[in-house]
Amino acid sequence: MSTECWKCGKKAVIHRKYEGKSWCSDHFAEQFESLIKETINKEDLFNSNEKICVALSGGMDSSALLFFLSKLFKNWRNAELVALTVDEGIKGYRDESIEIARELCDDLGVKLHVSSFEDAFGKTLDDIMKDKKHGCTYCGVLRRWLLNKKSRELGADKLATAHNLDDELQSIFMNYLKGDMKRMVRLGAKPAIVEDEKFVPRVKPFRNTPEKEIALYGRIRNLELHQTECPYVENSLRFDVRDFLNEMETKRPSTKFTALRAFDKLLPSLRKKYSSEDVSVDNCDECGEITSGRVCKTCKLLEKI
Ligand SMILES: [Zn+2]
Ligand SMILES: [Zn+2]
Repeated sequence: MSTECWKCGKKAVIHRKYEGKSWCSDHFAEQFESLIKETINKEDLFNSNEKICVALSGGMDSSALLFFLSKLFKNWRNAELVALTVDEGIKGYRDESIEIARELCDDLGVKLHVSSFEDAFGKTLDDIMKDKKHGCTYCGVLRRWLLNKKSRELGADKLATAHNLDDELQSIFMNYLKGDMKRMVRLGAKPAIVEDEKFVPRVKPFRNTPEKEIALYGRIRNLELHQTECPYVENSLRFDVRDFLNEMETKRPSTKFTALRAFDKLLPSLRKKYSSEDVSVDNCDECGEITSGRVCKTCKLLEKI
């Protein structure tokens, strides 16, 4: 491994095995940003007159995304950026990350909106977890519901999330292992979920970017990292898949990129097959949000609490 940047000879901060090149911090950050722009252009993620809501958790990925987009949008006069943080109500965990989110938004001049489980559902995640043992399931469903509703109320044209290459690939493999092909249409930088006025389309600008490189970019840009792990995190299938993929990548560099590109070749066919089967979009009888059944998943879960 070379310890010098292949472009300028300065001290390298990263050696990409999959590429065989080392990069100094300046050239890495520059190239990182141009790769994200490439994804944004190629996948046509934003229009210059849109209002974009960034789902901001206070973790490194979403902080880096907000930082990057605020930089990019400086040149787009009519684009507007807002940030949305969901406060699940996890004592000792969420408070710190909301503080980080607030500081970052102040620095960048982006308006931050905080939406809490308590206001929306009358209960914090801590309350919900007192007698249930489905942390991540509950949390994920309720959070998605809230992000969609609030970003729509904020008038956002798109909801940008910080899903990275590792997240995406884990989801792909998890869906394979569970045999859930239909769910795969939710993947991609611009997922085709449903087209409905109540649904705010998602975009994932970091979707082709490895998690490690986002963390490095964040450190180079001096972003603060919220390091505590969520207390309700489960030893889930996702972790097994993550470990497997990391091991493969160590043994055979560029496995992750190859696997993602292979999936991208399948995606158009999957979308064709499943979008025609799944057109029944309705409003939930309970909450009025969109659902494929009579009652949405969020309301079904809330009933059980
Ligand atoms: Zn350099
Ligand atoms: Zn509902």
